[in-house]
Amino acid sequence: MSFLRRLRNTSLLARFAAISLVLTIAVGLVLSSVLSSAIAERAREQAEWTAIVTVRLGLQPQLTPEDLADGFDGSRLAAVDAAVDAARSNLPGRGRLADLDPVELNIFDRDRTIVYSDEEEKVGTVSTSDELDEVLAGEVVSGFSHSADDDSASEDGDRLFLEVYVPLLYEGSTRPDGAIELYLPYAPVAAAVAQDVRTLTITLVVGLAVFYGVVFRLIASASRRLRRQAEALRTSADRDRHQSTHDTLTGLPNWILLRDRLEQSLAAATRSESEVALLLIDLDRFKEINDSLGHTLGDKLLRQVGPRLESVLRDGDTVARLGGDEFAVLLSSVDGEDQARAVAERIGESLHRPFDVDGVVLDVEASIGIVLSPWHGTDSEALLRNADIAMYVAKELKAGAVVFTPEEHMPAPARLTVLGDLRRALDAEDELFLNYQPKYTLDGERIEGVEALLRWNHPLLGMIPPGEFIPVAEGTGIILRLTERVLGLALPQMRRWLDAGHAVPVAVNLSTRCLLDAGLPDLVRRLLAEHGVPAEMLRLEVTESAVMGDAARCMEVLERLHDLGVRLSIDDFGTGYSSMAYLRRLPVDELKIDRSFVLGMTTTQQDAVLVRTAIDLGHNLGLTVVAEGVEGGEHVAALRELGCDIAQGFHYARPMTAEQLGALLDRVGTIHDPEDTARTRS
Ligand code: C2E
Ligand code: MG
Ligand code: MG
Repeated sequence: MSFLRRLRNTSLLARFAAISLVLTIAVGLVLSSVLSSAIAERAREQAEWTAIVTVRLGLQPQLTPEDLADGFDGSRLAAVDAAVDAARSNLPGRGRLADLDPVELNIFDRDRTIVYSDEEEKVGTVSTSDELDEVLAGEVVSGFSHSADDDSASEDGDRLFLEVYVPLLYEGSTRPDGAIELYLPYAPVAAAVAQDVRTLTITLVVGLAVFYGVVFRLIASASRRLRRQAEALRTSADRDRHQSTHDTLTGLPNWILLRDRLEQSLAAATRSESEVALLLIDLDRFKEINDSLGHTLGDKLLRQVGPRLESVLRDGDTVARLGGDEFAVLLSSVDGEDQARAVAERIGESLHRPFDVDGVVLDVEASIGIVLSPWHGTDSEALLRNADIAMYVAKELKAGAVVFTPEEHMPAPARLTVLGDLRRALDAEDELFLNYQPKYTLDGERIEGVEALLRWNHPLLGMIPPGEFIPVAEGTGIILRLTERVLGLALPQMRRWLDAGHAVPVAVNLSTRCLLDAGLPDLVRRLLAEHGVPAEMLRLEVTESAVMGDAARCMEVLERLHDLGVRLSIDDFGTGYSSMAYLRRLPVDELKIDRSFVLGMTTTQQDAVLVRTAIDLGHNLGLTVVAEGVEGGEHVAALRELGCDIAQGFHYARPMTAEQLGALLDRVGTIHDPEDTARTRS
């Protein structure tokens, strides 16, 4: 039993080897036993046949029925003796049974009396042997005997004889006239049998060993191949599993694995009534590092962040990279907010130590949003969304780490949960789309261009105005993706209008953060080429304050955009504090006066002065001046008097869909269309 148990625990191949060996040996034993008996039987039959032939051919012709009936006189006896000797010496079956020399020979008459024996004293005795009955009935009978003399049978078994009775039947007789009993030594037969069996055994053993060896080798190599394949499959499955749950750049768990662990921790925490904390970490100004020092260096920095974070955590905690410069830390069991805050502090400190990336020393700061379950959510989605909000607030307030507390920190929490939804909207197909508002010549006759305005149709909240989500997106890297989306929507639309015969410039709004993105000019160039739109048809609007904030950095991006041939506008002019000196240096073509001043210009002296100054300033710098938010005829009149070039506002048209604008263009035409085309349209 213990052998079987041990066998069950061994490898499949070892099990096969053991079982097949046992089976092969068993087959060998059965075969050898069957064949050995067959050999022995065959040898015995051969000996018996030898005896019959001896009797029938050698002896019977020498005897007459009368010899048997009347016995032998002296001269007959001598003749029979000679015949017996001759028969002995001519014994057939020479060869392997050459020593089959009868050791005793008795001749019986029909009445069971021995009429001749090579042991003379037996002549005249009557046999009581049972076999004799059968022989006298005509059968050949044979059997083993230990001695030629039944009475003195020795039991030592070393001299075994084959005793053969052959009936003597002469012509004319209906039943045997007598019988001859021969004792043949069995030793030569046994020796021949033993030799045959030995040969057979050797052949069997060698044959089966070769068979076993070949089969074993085949199976072993097949099993090795299978094992290798299974191993390869297992490693590739492991690799796939690892790849789908880990970030390729840093090797850290990704959101999928983090969410898994978060959910496990939440389930465990519910049972033990403990708390789980999730910390969302966003590196500050990582984009700048990436842009100024290159992606390779940026990637190397990101790879160093994981170990830094891990160095201040406990073993059971998880560090994950969610993408970009966003990391998350899961504290699977914390003792209240203070402990989570302490960990965040340690993380902050660990990141503040300068990083050495290929000899470049980098200072990194991070904004950390903290949430604790069950207080800030009981599922992974809610926790991540709230951590996102807390992180956003931390970034806005430059507060390092912020624990999610909607009431205190978020003046409009509903608005801020928008951030998570916005990420999803970017992945959705049709939640985000563009409206277009035309800019008119002041007489309202012709369209000069249009402004693309982003619209968000939230699946639950309906239309969300850009004023509610753009400032939120501007706090994070999402604004870059939003801008890319807007460009990706506007440029194909421009191509469609161009194809319909409308050379209408389209303006797209850019945020400050976009102007710090060194990749923007390349993106714009790529999209223009992709959609086959001439660069001068695209306008990019940047707010005054955006440019003023970090003028030096923005300047570089603006110049590269300008070099592409793209037109640039200063949006919301009047709300910032731009100096004449800066404006002069900016590669802009257009100045848009903020609607608050335009709206107030007919009622407030101050606004009127600002509008006039802005128009003069713009013209002095050689810029086209656009008035935004023109709602009434009185504004149009005032602006016309001041020499404003272009107007945009509800007075002329509200923002509309691309189709509506297409129809409007068909009716009104643009100032870029040839004069006659425009007239035929109007
Ligand atoms: P903006 O660039 O100054 O766009 C003009 C805004 O004024 C639009 O608001 C427009 O609907 C509104 N407007 C136009 N005429 C009138 C008028 O006569 N009276 C009044 N009261 N308003 C008028 P909207 O579409 O709500 O956009 C608000 C702001 O959101 C935009 O101001 C712009 O700063 C931002 N925005 C819109 N789309 C995008 C975008 O794709 N990217 C970025 N970065 N910002 C965008
Ligand atoms: Mg604008
Ligand atoms: Mg504006």
